[in-house]
Amino acid sequence: MSEFVKNLMAQVKAKNPSEPEFHQAVYEVASSLSLVLEKHPEYRKEKILERIIEPERVIMFRVPWVDDQGEVQVNRGFRIEMNSAIGPYKGGLRFHPSVNLGILKFLAFEQVFKNSLTTLPMGGGKGGSDFDPKGKSDGEVMRFCQSFMNELFRHIGPNTDVPAGDIGVGGREIGYLFGQYKKLRNEFTGVLTGKGLNWGGSLIRPEATGYGAVYFAAEMLATRNQTLEGKRCLVSGSGNVAQYTIEKILHLGGKPLTISDSNGYIYDEEGIDQEKLKFIMELKNVRRGRVKEYADKYKTATYVPLDSNLDYNPLWDHKADCAFPSATQNEINGKDAANLLKNGVYVVSEGANMPSTIEAIDQFLDAKILYGPGKAANAGGVATSGLEMSQNSLRLSWSREEVDQRLHNIMKSIHKTCVETAEKYGTPGNYVNGANIGGFIKVANAMLDQGIV
Ligand code: NDP
Repeated sequence: MSEFVKNLMAQVKAKNPSEPEFHQAVYEVASSLSLVLEKHPEYRKEKILERIIEPERVIMFRVPWVDDQGEVQVNRGFRIEMNSAIGPYKGGLRFHPSVNLGILKFLAFEQVFKNSLTTLPMGGGKGGSDFDPKGKSDGEVMRFCQSFMNELFRHIGPNTDVPAGDIGVGGREIGYLFGQYKKLRNEFTGVLTGKGLNWGGSLIRPEATGYGAVYFAAEMLATRNQTLEGKRCLVSGSGNVAQYTIEKILHLGGKPLTISDSNGYIYDEEGIDQEKLKFIMELKNVRRGRVKEYADKYKTATYVPLDSNLDYNPLWDHKADCAFPSATQNEINGKDAANLLKNGVYVVSEGANMPSTIEAIDQFLDAKILYGPGKAANAGGVATSGLEMSQNSLRLSWSREEVDQRLHNIMKSIHKTCVETAEKYGTPGNYVNGANIGGFIKVANAMLDQGIV
């Protein structure tokens, strides 16, 4: 670790105690940026990195609501407005009981670089609540979303801050949030993305993150003159990102073998085909059930319940070529990374945000596999949110083919930026450095231009 990174991390830890995920995200980026800061003393002098790690604004608020039994419930809401140097704050809302300030700060920090990589004019933000939508009725989710928006509406707007979905926030939640915003503001604007198709949403937005992660994997494979055809693929999660990752793997001829949720995972040696994927989508998006039911229906599959005594995740311990972590942060630890490598995996394309620990990343880089970090590989979601904003501003809707083509081109361009930047800074093939440096430079230059604000 360089002296600069060591000193920076000491400051970050002292100033932001009890936020290990935020420390981890800053450490990963700062380690890459040492290479740039040596070449650009102006960034050091203007304290660009020190400014980027401090959110421009943090909003934290009470979210009271009444459950179906008439009991008052109180949750905590957040919005982290991290950086607006290149555009309005943009990033998802996460509703999950694990949500806290540190997790949202890591996500907002990552978002700044990711949004910059997309080439679209979007700053970085993230928000959410410790509310758990699992097991709640539609009425409870609606009342929660309305209460959440009763405070959030003051802070967002189509030119200020444009939230979207993330874990626990899909089409249903965006609908309730948008309805309440419209009522409070009395205006119909593109203030949220991931909207329904007949009220301002974009085709391909639901598919975009998963499709993008697979397009990114295909680009990485192309550098070795290979394709996804016939590749065995491990996928974690069973939500939005996992579902469309599986769909695109199928389009490109690969064989998805696994899905998971927080209770356990499914391994299907026969592969998950279109029909089985349809079952998963109905199970997770309509019936809101658990993946265990997949093994009840398809006898080719085995269900392995989560064993919290294990210090590794057996989902990553199957013979395969590619891995698409699509559930949550730190779901691949050092032991999992060793298992992946041992089983022949040589492509990791991260649909989730920061799913690999620092120990895991170090092993992927040492082994020189094709490792696409989340801020590059999963940027297709926010990129298509950016396309939804453009369509809203133009009051136009593009066709499915047009949005998909733009998404595909953006993923190719992000891949190219990563490859070229990594090479320029003397670490060819290192997509971590490519993504961190590529994302940083545009934001840093905008901050230099805009003065000390
Ligand atoms: P969903 O809520 O649709 O699905 C999340 C999936 O991950 C569920 O299967 C969930 O299981 C599982 N999961 C969540 N938390 C945990 C946990 N702590 N342990 C084990 N499993 C867990 O979310 P998304 O698919 O939208 O998001 C998945 C990941 O992708 C996140 O890291 C998110 O930040 C990232 N991402 C999402 C984007 C988007 O456009 N949606 C864009 C870019 C990144 P269960 O049902 O049991 O909760």
